[in-house]
Formats: sequence, structure tokens, C-alpha cells
Amino acid sequence: MKTAICPGSFDPITLGHLNIIRRAAAIFDRVVVCVTFNSAKTSPMFSNEEKLEMVRTAVSRYPNVIVDHCETLLAEHVKKYEGAVLIKGLRAASDFDYEFQMDLVNKRINPQLETMFLTADQKYTFLSSSIVREMARYGADLHGLVPEELIDFIEEKARMRRE
Ligand code: ADP
Repeated sequence: MKTAICPGSFDPITLGHLNIIRRAAAIFDRVVVCVTFNSAKTSPMFSNEEKLEMVRTAVSRYPNVIVDHCETLLAEHVKKYEGAVLIKGLRAASDFDYEFQMDLVNKRINPQLETMFLTADQKYTFLSSSIVREMARYGADLHGLVPEELIDFIEEKARMRRE
């Protein structure tokens, strides 16, 4: 069984992430979406449990997609999925520079671990979790940016943070 791992901080999951997950699920037998809790990023908008719950909701329609989380180095954590490859989405050259560096670091930790790249759908090349957080903060319309079923939750969270 060929397994793809789609890692990310998903703060929150966007339609750009979901597009990559859906395409990976069409190629691989199984996709593990791995929510990383060890990100160096400061002040996330959502708690780890909220990020996980949003990802679970967003991927629930895909039968071969499961959700995991990782509190250590990703390259260590994924050793339990034997022969799995990492799938990353590339939006721009800047993504490539970062991901190329990450791949080299990952291979130091886990030399068997390969990373494969899917180019972002052109509808979503501008889209990132930080854009969504910024728009939510100012009460902008989130339709077309995040899964429909998460909009109310994200808007409510942003509203609570504004108060
Ligand atoms: P991190 O910033 O911790 O790497 P992200 O949640 O921002 O995590 O992204 C995880 C993965 O999803 C990365 O491979 C990133 O390139 C990819 N990704 C993020 N947004 C998009 C998008 N709009 N289209 C395609 N891939 C994306």
C-alpha cells in the first residue's frame, strides 16, 4: 500500500490544502494528513485540537484520507508509515526554496524519506492560512477560501478574538 503524507500546520486548513490532499488521494492508496504541532510559528489563531478537528471535518468525505498529528520532528514521526512519501504543494518559487531546504534536512534525519511536489491549482496560488487569518480578523468573506462547513466556526473564532 502506497501512502502519502500531507503535513502542515493548517492554521486553518484552506481550499488550497484540500486541493493538494484530494489530488494526492487520487494517486495514492492512502493519504495521512499530518497536523504538525511543533511549528516554530508564533501565536497560532487556533488551538491544536481545533486545527485537528477542522482537518477531520474537511477530509471526512474522502474514504482513503486519515488524520494524524505530530509533536516531534516530522521526518522521525513518519517512520511508522513504512515507504510513505511526503507530498507538498508548490505555489511559487519561494515555496520551492523552502521545501528544497526542508527535504535536505529531512533526509539527514530519515534518508529513505522522499518528498514529491504537486503544483498549486491556479485558483489557489495566492491562498495561505495567513491570508485566511488576516481576512477573518477583519470580518471579510471567507467563501472560496476555506471549506464551507468551517466558515461559521472560523468567523466565530475571529469574532471572539476581536472582542
Ligand atoms: P507550513 O507553513 O507549516 O509548511 P502550511 O499549512 O502553510 O504549513 O502548508 C502545508 C503545505 O501545504 C505546504 O506544502 C504548502 O506548500 C502547501 N500549501 C499551502 N497552501 C497551499 C495552496 N494554496 N496551494 C497548494 N499548496 C498549498
